[in-house]
Amino acid sequence: MTARPEDLPASTSLVRLGPERHAIPPSSRPHPVNVAFLGLGAIGAPMARHLAKPPFSLTVWNRTASKAAAFAAETGARAASSPAQAARGAQVVVTCLPTSREVEALLDGDDGLLAGLSNESMLVDCTSGDPATSKRMAARLGERGIAFMDAPVSGGVVGAQNGALTIMCGADPATLERARPVLEAFGKKIVLCGPIGAGDAVKAVNQSLLGIHIWALSEGLVALSKAGVSPSLALDVINASSGRSNVSQNLFTERVITRAFPRTFKLALLEKDMTIAAEFARENRVPSPMTQSAADLFRVARGALGEEADHVEAVKLLEQWGGCEVTG
Ligand code: NDP
Repeated sequence: MTARPEDLPASTSLVRLGPERHAIPPSSRPHPVNVAFLGLGAIGAPMARHLAKPPFSLTVWNRTASKAAAFAAETGARAASSPAQAARGAQVVVTCLPTSREVEALLDGDDGLLAGLSNESMLVDCTSGDPATSKRMAARLGERGIAFMDAPVSGGVVGAQNGALTIMCGADPATLERARPVLEAFGKKIVLCGPIGAGDAVKAVNQSLLGIHIWALSEGLVALSKAGVSPSLALDVINASSGRSNVSQNLFTERVITRAFPRTFKLALLEKDMTIAAEFARENRVPSPMTQSAADLFRVARGALGEEADHVEAVKLLEQWGGCEVTG
């Protein structure tokens, strides 16, 4: 997707590139948009790959430096040796780490983000974070004139690869417009949900629904399977009926029935998201027994299945409890 010149920071001049445009002589080629991306994990790496081409000039940083070096070698991006070095000269710095806590921890110190960010730059946090920490980070950056927005994403690794993520933004409208060209590189539906923290909150509620669907469908299919009903047949019926969801239509058909269980999104991260949703409901004094119980159940699953398990593997715990596999 192409950045819109009017949306870029004032120091940037961009010309739309495409088949309908005339070739631009080297002397008048537009300046690239300098972007830094920190966190080349399961979703971060495919997001960053969209920024490793014009009109962007990309610098990456990753805690495990070998991953950043390999990414740089493959894409032509530069690998920075610290968050500060990555941020220096970048107009937009994107972070995508497990939780807000890890992002906040990158701010300080000689090598930290604050040492590299200038008041012409902005921090776009695509972590599925928590509203309170996002507000705290926004306040700290704001003291230095640096804009911040929470911009968690949805759509999974495939959505990231296709540049088709949904992005839930917590920001003031002007900040979102400045970031939009970068967000459009990997996002398709970009929504301003409200002020700082609102993107995190919407994302957490979405994740709670994802977990509830996984858990409830697991319970139902284990019971049906144990009673002798084919899970594939049951899914076929459900997917043509009112109980269907992304979980039944895609995740269970592609990953559970087949026993493929690819590891694309950690159950530990989903448990973290569901806990954010539970805390958000409590903070707003909303009775939320379903949200609280679901978060508790995923905490049990995280303990039982470990830090590396994929989120869909929650079904394995229900299979153990029920003594029956969801297959065939
Ligand atoms: P991964 O666990 O695959 O990657 C985590 C990334 O964060 C790695 O680059 C890791 O570095 C880095 N990291 C971990 N701890 C630290 C730390 N203490 N300091 C600095 N860097 C650290 O996670 P995902 O990419 O799957 O998820 C990232 C975020 O995106 C999460 O908030 C998640 O909830 C969200 N998300 C994920 C989706 C998915 O499908 N995977 C979908 C939508 C949102 P290292 O390489 O050194 O381990």
